[in-house]
Amino acid sequence: MVDKTPIDGKLAWSFDMERPMSSYLIAFAIGKYKKQVLRSESGIPIENYYYPQEELKVEPTYRYTKRIFDFLEKEIEFDYPWQNYKQVPVHDFLYAGMENTGATLFSDSYLIDSVAFKDRNYVNVNAHELAHQWFGNLVTEESGNHHWLQEGFATYYAYLAERSIFGEDKFYWKYYDTAATLKNQSEDGNGNHYLILMQIV
Ligand SMILES: [Zn+2]
Repeated sequence: MVDKTPIDGKLAWSFDMERPMSSYLIAFAIGKYKKQVLRSESGIPIENYYYPQEELKVEPTYRYTKRIFDFLEKEIEFDYPWQNYKQVPVHDFLYAGMENTGATLFSDSYLIDSVAFKDRNYVNVNAHELAHQWFGNLVTEESGNHHWLQEGFATYYAYLAERSIFGEDKFYWKYYDTAATLKNQSEDGNGNHYLILMQIV
């Protein structure tokens, strides 16, 4: 955001973007939030939003965020393409997460405490939506026929990021499990490459 200017008793908010993006990637999240501010190794501000009364969930929910960010920049070998990055939990969200440019929205059912972290956490969605900032947002498919460009790379890079945190066993298990699920769907005559999309948009 560049500034807020009063015009006719209202406030005009001005935003600056250095690169173009597709219109489906714009979003607003409006509510009462506080934020944790981190900074990547490369100097990009990372803002993690949370409900004011749930400060104890900040660390477990956003655990490994900076590590994932630094990992993806290094692994993809292309600097994060936008000026900043934000993650905002929202209520009654249809998907796990959505990779709006510079601002991922995600279901607040992923807001967890440190006990719940082992059972269910935001790490995979965190990495998946962040990978979309390159694959999908910086480079966007021209039509739905090429959605592999979005979901294929986002899914794969999220697995790589998880491998760097949780190790080889989990990586190969998820790899195998995904392949087996896709194979079963295919054999049932329901095969399509949107399986991952159905789980995480
Ligand atoms: Zn996705």
